[in-house]
Amino acid sequence: MMKLEQIVRRNILNLIPYSSARDEFKGKASVYLDANENPYQLYRMNRYPDPLQWKVKAAIAEAKGVEKERIFLGVGSDEPIDNVFRVFCEPGKDNVVAIEPTYGMYKVAAEINNVEYRKVLLNESFDFTADSLLQATDRHSKLIFLCSPNNPTGNCLNRNEIIRTVEQFNGIVVLDEAYIDFSGQPSFIGELDRYPNLMIFQTFSKAWASAAVRLGMAFAGADIIGIMNKVKYPYNINQLTQDYVLQMLSERKQVQQWVDTLLKEREKLRQQLSELPCIENLYPTDANFFLVKVANADAMYRFLIEKGVIVRNRNTVSLCAGCLRITVGTPEENKTLINALQQFR
Ligand SMILES: *Cc1c(COP(=O)(O)O)cnc(C)c1O
Repeated sequence: MMKLEQIVRRNILNLIPYSSARDEFKGKASVYLDANENPYQLYRMNRYPDPLQWKVKAAIAEAKGVEKERIFLGVGSDEPIDNVFRVFCEPGKDNVVAIEPTYGMYKVAAEINNVEYRKVLLNESFDFTADSLLQATDRHSKLIFLCSPNNPTGNCLNRNEIIRTVEQFNGIVVLDEAYIDFSGQPSFIGELDRYPNLMIFQTFSKAWASAAVRLGMAFAGADIIGIMNKVKYPYNINQLTQDYVLQMLSERKQVQQWVDTLLKEREKLRQQLSELPCIENLYPTDANFFLVKVANADAMYRFLIEKGVIVRNRNTVSLCAGCLRITVGTPEENKTLINALQQFR
C-alpha cells in the first residue's frame, strides 16, 4: 500500500498553511476585533466566512452518508481538479494518466501545471481495462483520472475495472461522478473506507441545478482532505454560496423530483431519437445527456442553431467523429428538439 508522504510533493508536505483569524479563534464571542473587518454592514456579509465550511459539510455528510472530515469543497469541480495537480504533481517531472475521450478540464489543468497528460483510448463500447491504464503509468505517474458516467460518452465505466485500477495503482485515482445522480449505478463514496488512494469528485452543477454558484465536492480519506485544505485559498467558498447551498440541501425532495422527471424525459427522448432516420447511432447513457452519431454532425449542429436549439458538437473529439452531445431538457424543450430534427434533411 502506498504511503501518502511518498506521493505528495515535498514542498506541500512541508507547507505551513496560512492561518486566518477564523482559524485561530473559533468560539463564540460578543466582540470581534481580530480580523480588521468593518463592524457595520447592510446584508450580513461583513464577517469572513468559515474557511472550512463546517455547517455545509455537516449537511452534505448527512445527505451522502460520509464523515464531514472526508469532504473538500471547491469553486466548482475546477478547484479540486487543479488542486490535485498542485498537491501531487511535480511540474516538469510527474505525469498523469486519463481515459480518452473524457471531460476536457483534466488536460487543461495538467497543462496549466506543466504536468504531462497521458491519454488511454477507450474501447469501442467506450469502456476501459485497468491493465491498459496501468500500462501507461510509470514511477512518475501520480494521478489516474476516471469519469463515470463519462462525459461526453454518457456511459458508466466497468465497476470491476475501476476497482482493479484503484487496487493496483500506486498513486491517486480520481473518479469524477458529476453525473452519478442520473445513474443506475451506486456512487463509490461507500467504498472510500476500503480504498485510501481513491478520490471522488461530485458537483452542485448538474442534478442540484446550481451551476451558477460554482460549488464542487471532493470526497477522500481525511488525510488527503487535510492536505487539500492546506493548499486551497483560505476563504475559497464565500458566505453567499454557503448560505445558498445549505438552503438547497434542505430541498432534497425537490432535487429528487427533478432527477425523476429528467430520467423519464431521457427514456422518452431515447424512444423518439431512435425513430429518427437522421440518427445513425444512439449510445447508451447513464447521465442527463445523449451522445448520438449522425451522418453530418457539423451540418446538423448548424441546422439546429438556426432552429434556436444549441447542442454540443463533439465531432472533433476522439472516438466521437460524427457525434453530437444533447442534454435532456424540459418536456417542451425536448419536443422542440425532436420537431427540429424531424425537419432535418
Ligand atoms: C459538468 C461536469 C463537471 C462540473 O464541473 P463544475 O466545475 O463543478 O461545474 C465536472 N465533471 C464533469 C465530467 C462534468 O461533465
